[in-house]
Amino acid sequence: MDAHGAIARISLSAVQHNLQQAKRLAPSAKAIAVVKANAYGHGDLMVASALQPLADMFGVARFEEAQKLRSSGIKQPILLLSGFLNAEQLQFAALNNFQVCIHEFAQLAVLETTPLAAPITAWIKIDSGMHRIGFSPEQADAVFARVNAITQVVQPVNAMTHFAQADEPEQRSITETAIARFQQATAGKVRHTALCNSAGVMAFPQAHSDFIRPGIMLYGITPFAEQQGSDVGLRPAMDFTSSLIAVREHKAGEPIGYGASWVSPRDTRIGVIAVGYGDGYPRMAPAGTPVLVNGRRVPLVGRVAMDMATVDLGPEGTEQVGDEVILWGNGLAAEEVARHVGTIAYELVTRLTARPKLEYV
Ligand code: PLP
Repeated sequence: MDAHGAIARISLSAVQHNLQQAKRLAPSAKAIAVVKANAYGHGDLMVASALQPLADMFGVARFEEAQKLRSSGIKQPILLLSGFLNAEQLQFAALNNFQVCIHEFAQLAVLETTPLAAPITAWIKIDSGMHRIGFSPEQADAVFARVNAITQVVQPVNAMTHFAQADEPEQRSITETAIARFQQATAGKVRHTALCNSAGVMAFPQAHSDFIRPGIMLYGITPFAEQQGSDVGLRPAMDFTSSLIAVREHKAGEPIGYGASWVSPRDTRIGVIAVGYGDGYPRMAPAGTPVLVNGRRVPLVGRVAMDMATVDLGPEGTEQVGDEVILWGNGLAAEEVARHVGTIAYELVTRLTARPKLEYV
């Protein structure tokens, strides 16, 4: 018996392969590797270090994420995808080769009034239809004029946008409209542009432009609902694993777990896995969600608890305490598990807690 708790095994060579795949799809663009939220749960320092030879820049959401990468020796420019929050952060950004996204008039005011110790590269965010952050195409001329007047911003300035529906093949015209809006708002005014998340990289080559911003595809996961990464040449980078800590005989008609949410229709054998929502395995995973035990697909039964989840091994199941369990990864795509849970694979991998060990292979 060699039972262990939840471990996320991360293949850095898979992440490298996936960035290369993005670059093959967009050969004329430079790559901003998106490593926000701890590299979607894969460990930002390890992922960024492995991608240093391949990525032109890194992208993060929070200032603190950029600071962590820089203080750990990452050398590339780091783009703050949702910008900076105050003058102090802006000054730090200028001094540390962070590039900033300007999406809000409040930021523009800080940029205009904060004397910077070094010039800063800025990306004006155009709202091409997501309507979350960014300036509308109608506001663009006035915003460009203001930014062009700021001598401490490297000129000409850059511009970016973010697609709301590039992952929906039946909604192509929405993304085509977004591309056209962005192009009209920025034509002749910018040095570099960046439009494409992973779905854009894969489905909208006409928008690859100067820089791509792939995130989820780096981790071997496709943004498209009906596919999985391996269908499109990506290699899943995370095996989320654990092991059986108990194997029990279970009588027909008996319930299992909190709330007695599942009652066995037959005598069977139940495997108890050392994983739960305390590790980031979703509590909402319903009975029937697949799990691999020693490579064999078996269904989850009963409610996922903080530390344990239960599977029906069947009356003939021969699995033993200590046997290896794959919750998602090789042989069981995170995309498939996400469909059972009613979420997206982005959320599964990003929501791992601090408890599972990250092991790099
Ligand atoms: N660019 C921006 C501005 C983002 O917010 C994100 C992620 O949400 C990405 C790129 C990467 O997107 P994806 O993970 O879908 O490739």
